[in-house]
Amino acid sequence: MGSEKQKYSDVYDCVIIGAGVIGAAAARTLSRYRLRLLLLERENDVGLITSAANSAIVHSGYDPTPGSLKAKMNVAGNRLFPEFCRQLDVDLKMIGSLTLATDDDQIPVIEELAVRAAQNGVPVEILSRDAVLRREPNLTPEVRCALFAPTAGIVNPFELTAALAENAVQNGVALRLNEEVTRIAPHPDGGYAVTTDRGVYRTLAVINAAGLHADTLANNALAELGKPADYEIRPRKGEYFVLDHFDPEFLHHTIFTVPTEKGKGILVSPTTHGNYLVGPSAEFTDRKDDFATTDETLAQVLASAQKLVPSIPTRQIIRQFAGLRAVEKRGEFVIDRPAPGLVNLLGIQSPGLTACFAIAEKAAALLREDLPLEENPDFNPVCPPRVRLHRMAPDERAKFVAEHPSYGRIVCRCEDVSEGEIVDAIRRPSGATTVDGVKKRTRPGFGKCQGGFCQPQVVKILARELGRKPEEIPLKSPGTEILLEKIGGADGG
Ligand SMILES: Cc1cc2nc3c(=O)[nH]c(=O)nc-3n(C[C@H](O)[C@H](O)[C@H](O)COP(=O)(O)OP(=O)(O)OC[C@H]3O[C@@H](n4cnc5c(N)ncnc54)[C@H](O)[C@@H]3O)c2cc1C
Repeated sequence: MGSEKQKYSDVYDCVIIGAGVIGAAAARTLSRYRLRLLLLERENDVGLITSAANSAIVHSGYDPTPGSLKAKMNVAGNRLFPEFCRQLDVDLKMIGSLTLATDDDQIPVIEELAVRAAQNGVPVEILSRDAVLRREPNLTPEVRCALFAPTAGIVNPFELTAALAENAVQNGVALRLNEEVTRIAPHPDGGYAVTTDRGVYRTLAVINAAGLHADTLANNALAELGKPADYEIRPRKGEYFVLDHFDPEFLHHTIFTVPTEKGKGILVSPTTHGNYLVGPSAEFTDRKDDFATTDETLAQVLASAQKLVPSIPTRQIIRQFAGLRAVEKRGEFVIDRPAPGLVNLLGIQSPGLTACFAIAEKAAALLREDLPLEENPDFNPVCPPRVRLHRMAPDERAKFVAEHPSYGRIVCRCEDVSEGEIVDAIRRPSGATTVDGVKKRTRPGFGKCQGGFCQPQVVKILARELGRKPEEIPLKSPGTEILLEKIGGADGG
């Protein structure tokens, strides 16, 4: 940035690096206290990396090794989900999960998982073949038995991170997007100097929630403090298929294979908005930006999923994507305070989404010695409710539209999203500024046409709301503008 570099004189109590679900949850939790907080994110929106590309399951916690941090955070996080999602108005459905034994060899694994569940304090039940098939007639007739975990759920992960960031901002957190942290060093007068590509901030404390890149930041920060460090994150890729919403009765629970040493195995699951998700694979990759999918891996994913649900309608596949798990070499969550005022939340692979609220609480507890955690009497945990037109009964909807006409102008026909909902997603604190940001918050573009019909309308609404030209509106990151220049037409729309 050279001469554009600007020195910020701002002083904070805590700088949180990374606005994925973990950093956003940490920021929101700390905003309960009277603190000056800054949340820094290098992308142009919150929650764009791992927090946007996962299975969206609120895991019950029967699987992680008893006593591990993963197990503790999973179970504690799971318990906080219903209340916190209510506060944040985030879509959550506690539909329960079924982990299937599809051959005799897997029956002891199910029994072992039930023991582990009891050790972790997670209620489960082993269901017989008939009981499983009564619940889910589309499962393989080969099923021998299943572990039923009633406290598992599904969440809208995009909405979750956006709502956490929104609520944090509502409660006074400063959020700066498009700003990459390049250095964390001790400040000569105490605390830390956090350098970004735009300036330097002084802060008493730092939370490093930089996802896949948290290892580098932590190692460099500790080197600056003269302390040894050897954090190492290796990404493990998970590839998925998304199916259109074709039959709400196709599956009612999240269906898992038995877990393997690579992770939780393949799942087939409804999403909160009625689609179905199939995946993920689990293969290491050497690159932290390798989000490519391959036909070969997806074929393996499909074959494994068909062993659970043979009749997966492949003609309903509308999309594929990949996410990268931030696997730390110890295989465990790293939630530590290696120096006063420095907290790492790294290696937060699955079940990190489920654990986000519990991890945030733990981060705040770790900073108790470094920060004056005095309750903020103005803290408001509640996000204003979102209008979800597609959920309204016809008469309720007609009445609402009569009072709010912009909600009667449907922009996305596949997902039934109105102009009013899109405008709301843009106007909220830390609202959408890109086509992808609108899609993640309100769903236009998630359906069968993948934005083919609604994208021009979304560009137009974004331009109008943000006071920009349509050709300045990016699909995602800067440089992905959809329109190049105006070549004719009356209104440029
Ligand atoms: C395939 C897959 C399936 C999963 N399924 C589930 C599941 O079903 N249930 C569940 O509970 N968990 C699941 N997880 C895990 C869950 O998605 C993660 O634990 C969680 O999203 C991690 O969030 P995060 O905030 O740590 O990381 P991220 O979402 O990656 O956020 C880190 C942020 O830091 C930013 N950043 C990085 N470097 C810098 C820098 N130098 N300066 C500023 N910003 C920076 C990044 O841009 C990013 O936005 C899954 C993960 C994967 C990959």
